[in-house]
Amino acid sequence: MTTWLFDYDLTLYGFDEAEVIGSLDRNITQFLVTRFGLSLQDADAKRRGYCATYGTTLGGLRALHGIAPQEYFDFIHGGESLQLPKPNRTKREWLLGLPGRRLVFTNARRDWAQRGLESMQILDCFEDILDIESFAWDSKPNPVVYAQVESRLGCSGSELIMIEDKAENLEPARKLGWRTVLVHPECVSAKVECDLKLPHLLDLNPSHYPLLGIP
Ligand SMILES: [Mg+2]
Repeated sequence: MTTWLFDYDLTLYGFDEAEVIGSLDRNITQFLVTRFGLSLQDADAKRRGYCATYGTTLGGLRALHGIAPQEYFDFIHGGESLQLPKPNRTKREWLLGLPGRRLVFTNARRDWAQRGLESMQILDCFEDILDIESFAWDSKPNPVVYAQVESRLGCSGSELIMIEDKAENLEPARKLGWRTVLVHPECVSAKVECDLKLPHLLDLNPSHYPLLGIP
């Protein structure tokens, strides 16, 4: 059976709601300010540097400073300033119309994705959320995580369709033979091999199914 794996941030909600990830990034920067006594500007530069080098800010914090993931996520998922994506009935109907199983596959901790899915009123469209904690804090694009997805779901290769805004996260999936969909407003210029590139999530429609191996 076809199994759809959706990234959460900037995939299940799009770049038109980028203020959602922006509000989380501000909390991450504040974590660095509080923890290391940095200026806002230096903390923001450190956050961007860790993301570029380690895939996530947490990756850098763990590798270089031994920061405990729960302490980090408890801080960044707290406070009053976080924003959530808006309810979207069209998205809900689109999701429910996809043939097969649907799961979320995210580098976030479950509670962040779950709050956003609840806010969009699409949480019940998904069988489960495969989050960073469930992979012992390893994250995409570490190939170890993709192998665990296959064993946990009991499916492999072209049965899996992964939908993501980050091209680098699709590469390990492609190597395992998964079908890959890049969703990004500038997808046309993305230098990445994948089965399908779309500017927006809801652009995917049944005319694309043959490209994704769906009968
Ligand atoms: Mg994303």
